[in-house]
This record gives sequence, C-alpha cells and structure tokens, in this order.
Amino acid sequence: MPYTEDRAVWFEGQGLWQHIPASDWQSWTWQLKNRLTNVAQLEQHMTLTPEEKAGCYFADKKLSLAITPYFFNLIDRNDPECPIRKQVIPRSGEMQISAEEQLDSLGEDEHSPVPGLVHRYPDRVLFLVTDRCAAYCRYCTRSRLVSNAQDYNFHPEYEQALRYIESHPEVRDVLLSGGDPLLLSDKKLEHLLARLRAIKHVEFIRIGSRIPVFLPQRITPELCEIFKKYGPIWMSIHVNHPKEATQELKDACERLSFAGVPLGNQSVLLKGVNDDADVMKALVHRLLRMRVRPYYLYQMDLITGGAHFKVDVRKGIEIIRALRGHTTGYAVPQYVIDAPGGGGKVPVNPDYVEKITDDEVIFRNYEGQRFSYPLKSTPVEVETPVELPVAGGESARVASP
Ligand SMILES: *Cc1c(COP(=O)(O)O)cnc(C)c1O
Ligand code: SF4
Repeated sequence: MPYTEDRAVWFEGQGLWQHIPASDWQSWTWQLKNRLTNVAQLEQHMTLTPEEKAGCYFADKKLSLAITPYFFNLIDRNDPECPIRKQVIPRSGEMQISAEEQLDSLGEDEHSPVPGLVHRYPDRVLFLVTDRCAAYCRYCTRSRLVSNAQDYNFHPEYEQALRYIESHPEVRDVLLSGGDPLLLSDKKLEHLLARLRAIKHVEFIRIGSRIPVFLPQRITPELCEIFKKYGPIWMSIHVNHPKEATQELKDACERLSFAGVPLGNQSVLLKGVNDDADVMKALVHRLLRMRVRPYYLYQMDLITGGAHFKVDVRKGIEIIRALRGHTTGYAVPQYVIDAPGGGGKVPVNPDYVEKITDDEVIFRNYEGQRFSYPLKSTPVEVETPVELPVAGGESARVASP
C-alpha cells in the first residue's frame, strides 16, 4: 500500500501525558527524568510483543533502552509495525549476530589518535564528546560504546583531543558527535565551542545530533545564543520517517535556523521504517519545509545484531531514482555506504550514464529517455549570414525507450 499522509498536518502523536502541566512537558530536564527505560514502564502504556519483550531484557547487555515521553508519544501503540516504535523499542532480532557484523564495523577505534577522536579523512576529525543520548536508536552505529551497556567505559579526553586538533593544522573541519553533544550542559558545550573557535585553522564546526528529534525542548533560546555567538555552527539532525516531523521539531529547527545554524539531515535506510520511495519522498518534503536540507541517506553499518534492519542496496538505489528529477533537487540526499573497516563514506548512485566515448556521453534522464551529449566539437564552415542551429530539442535525442 503506498504511503499517504495529510500534507497540511504536522504529526501530533497519541496524546499521552496530557494530564501533566505544559511547563513540565516543555522542560527538557523533565523529559529526560521521565524517560521510559524498562519493560514495566513501557507496559504501563502499551502491550509489548514477545519479540519486543525479549529484546528489552537483552538491551541491558547491548544498548540501553531509553525513550523520552515526547518521542514515545509518537509511537502507534496498536501497531507493532509502527516505524517510530521499531527505531526505539528493542526486538529479539538484536540478539541474532551475523558473521559479517562487527562491534566497531567502521574501524573507528583504530583511527583514533586520542580516545574519542577519529581522524580518518586528512582534513577533518570526528570528535566524540559523550556516550549518552536522549533516547537510543536500536540500529546505532556506535552501540559498542553508546549508553555503556557493553561496559566500554568511554571517557572522552577533551583536553587531549583539543591539543591534538591544535597541533594538526591540516584539520580544518571538526564534527562533534557521540552520543549526542547536545546532552552536554550549555556551559560545557560553550567551553568546547569557544576552544575550537580559538583554533585558527579550524574553519568549519558542525554538530551531529538527534536531540531536535528526541528532545526538541532542549533547543532553548539560551542554547541558540551560544550557536549565534560561536557561529557559523552547522548541524546534522537525524530524521528517518515523516511521522517524526512534528510541530515541535519544526519549531526547534526554526529556532536553530534563526540562530544562523544551517541544518542538514542524515537518515539511515531501515527495513520496515523508511525503505519505501513514498515514505522517503514524504520525509524529504517535510524536511525542506522545516528548513532542513537532506544530506546523507546511509546504508546501515554492519553493527552486531543489526541484520533485522538491513535493506538491499538495490532498494536504496531505487529510492534515490524515485526522487532524483521527480522532486526538488534540494530534497535528494546522497546515498552512501560507509566502507566496512574504515574506508569512509562512498556514494552509491543510480546509473544514468550508459556510455562515454571520445565523441559523446550517452545517458538517460529521470524518465528513462536516452540522450547524447557530444564531447567533440566539429567546426562548421559557414557563409554569411549565420543561422544558428536550435539548441537541444528533438535533434539531440538519440532514441526513446
Ligand atoms: C562521516 C565522518 C566524517 C564527516 O564526513 P563528511 O562526508 O564530511 O560529512 C568525518 N570523519 C569521520 C570519521 C566520519 O565518519
Ligand atoms: S542518537 Fe545517534 S548516537 Fe545516539 S543512539 Fe541514536 S544513532 Fe546512536
């Protein structure tokens, strides 16, 4: 069944917690304190399937269970196939480990000159500043360390990491991630941003965060002032399904935008969540309306216990093909595979080019029609007056399918 939605309406959720004061609901510390973190708390609000229950009990050893009331409110409690539910409620599939999977599938630890600082590309570093998040995504790439359920005991060495960046003039781009950097206090975050801004060769600072999605209340005016002060700070948020596009998220994105924070989105292609062209199209349209530019669509990393989320790459390519040309160019993310073992992000694209010779490129457009772009230039001997040929048009077309 094709995914349909009411485009005029921002998703509102199930209307739980209506009995509590709005000031509590809007407080990010209230949201954090009242997270749902175990089976008993979930069962106060919903019936878990046996697979979910088993997954929840296993989560203590894999990746903690935690869901903010705000995000839980978006779950359809009557539908085990709910795309929001699958992202945050563990399932027994997490216990099934495949031979291809690895704890550190991107080889991040080997590329870390300082604990928590991944220097894979020559000009930029990934700075993991915490192992905590507002809620935990069951497919998290860094589940080896995030939430500390696997006793990784992650301790970021801020001072050492900052000194490494200071002493490496080739590092022009610093990406703060984790865990979720926006879980740090304003004071800690401001300290980090101030230190990074003071490094002359650091031109570009960005934050990867799912806080706007899990905990939009955290995007306070005070936090936005910090971004203004140390800007430009770019931000990649992480939205996977149009149902996450609520009025609250839209408002949070607006606060960030008005503070001068350019916003991008990173989605992970997930089975039963967003492995569908109609769902993805609805998502990217919502993102543009929230001032967010779709940036990457990730093929899921080969993390342990993630196979139940894995989507065929051909499906991902088909989704991109269904977007490119069929909708606004700004709405189309770059589909990438992060190369297992640590090769970095590699684009995966539909093939539009059929052939390139010295004479021409033969390619197809979004509708499948074939075209030729001549690479050679043949001077034409003309006598005056010059009559220019009409550019493009039917003559440029070689054949239709
Ligand atoms: C994703 C990533 C980056 C940033 O990559 P961009 O393509 O510039 O967004 C940097 N370092 C590491 C280790 C990464 O995984
Ligand atoms: S927010 Fe990011 S780091 Fe945190 S659990 Fe989700 S994917 Fe992992």
